[in-house]
Amino acid sequence: MAKKKVGWFGDFGGQFAPETLMEALSALEAEYSKIRRDTTFRRELNYYLRSYAGRPTPLYYAKNLSDIVGGARIYLKREDLLHGGAHKINNALGQALLAKRMGKTRVIAETGAGQHGVATAMAAAVLGLHAEVYMGSEDMERQRLNVFRMRLLGATVHPVDAGSRTLKDAINEAMRDWIANVSNTHYLVGSVVGPHPYPTIVRDFQSVIGREIMVQFKKSVGGLPDYIVACVGGGSNAAGSFQAFVDEKKVKLVGVQAAGQGLASGKHAAPLLAGSVGVMHGMRTYLLQDDNGQIQLTHSVAAGLDYSAVGPEHSYFKQTGRVEYVGVTDEEAVKAFETLSRSEGIIPALESSHALAYAIKLAATLPHDTTIVVTLSGRGDKDVESVAKFRGSML
Ligand SMILES: *Cc1c(COP(=O)(O)O)cnc(C)c1O
Repeated sequence: MAKKKVGWFGDFGGQFAPETLMEALSALEAEYSKIRRDTTFRRELNYYLRSYAGRPTPLYYAKNLSDIVGGARIYLKREDLLHGGAHKINNALGQALLAKRMGKTRVIAETGAGQHGVATAMAAAVLGLHAEVYMGSEDMERQRLNVFRMRLLGATVHPVDAGSRTLKDAINEAMRDWIANVSNTHYLVGSVVGPHPYPTIVRDFQSVIGREIMVQFKKSVGGLPDYIVACVGGGSNAAGSFQAFVDEKKVKLVGVQAAGQGLASGKHAAPLLAGSVGVMHGMRTYLLQDDNGQIQLTHSVAAGLDYSAVGPEHSYFKQTGRVEYVGVTDEEAVKAFETLSRSEGIIPALESSHALAYAIKLAATLPHDTTIVVTLSGRGDKDVESVAKFRGSML
């Protein structure tokens, strides 16, 4: 393993990758810094974000919810209304276009819950690329509907039978594929994780969320919001929501991790709250690991938050204190899922319900002239079966 001092967020991030991938990462970095300011690329991406994915998404004042909670006013950034039902399409379209720019004809991805695999399959279909998705066979069984969707969208789904047959094993297989096929293949990473330049690329493609919040809030409310709250799995919807506000010191930023059955139970997915610093998936960051550096199993009712590491920029924000990280349990998230459904007629993704649950708690302690923007990263249609099961019933 080689280590190179580029792409660090303070003590976090870096490029911990096998020598065979360093060239591919450098090429990606070079191409990305070219297209970053290229107006043709930006225009093309904007076209797909607007006409295909459904941007800009509304900023909605959840008055009914705010009235029930009694306190601060809660606004929802409606990423749940995007094509595919979540923010993931922002990044998938950006990287698929980047792949085309680099002359690649094939994109590969790995997926746990299947949401990123579906977003990748959609972006590949519309942009004329071939998508191949690695997925643990255990996850494939649990997420059959998303496997069917990916295949319907024209992607090839490869079952991974190694190890625990889940996300981390799928990541290893995707890496192996990339090393073997780097000349025609782009590895489309799904969150702000992995070796440099991925955390930066994915954050930038998601930063449209925060830029829109800033413009929409200014126009409909005036000034800046007091709080922005987003859930943190790998951390892409949060990084994208926060980016435009990082230098606006009056805006408090809150990242919500999955506390599962409680931090003390050990059954959670909150490396920023209960983890320690280590190296995994090409980056130095907070991880859930045991004393021997073995990666621990995670648990969350929200499949998209069930990850044992976190994007390195979040580790940096934790260290500098720019973002406050908090935990929300399965029980609290499911309750928020139900509350929003009933009060506003919006079924939020279980991931987003974590952010919402914290915003509800927070709002109750604040005066009415305080404003909280919650990023509703996705819609919850995919989660109704999990919620029914959690409540002890069946569909
Ligand atoms: C995948 C997913 C997440 C978690 O990913 P981040 O990179 O932390 O944003 C959150 N919400 C939804 C709806 C998702 O599909």
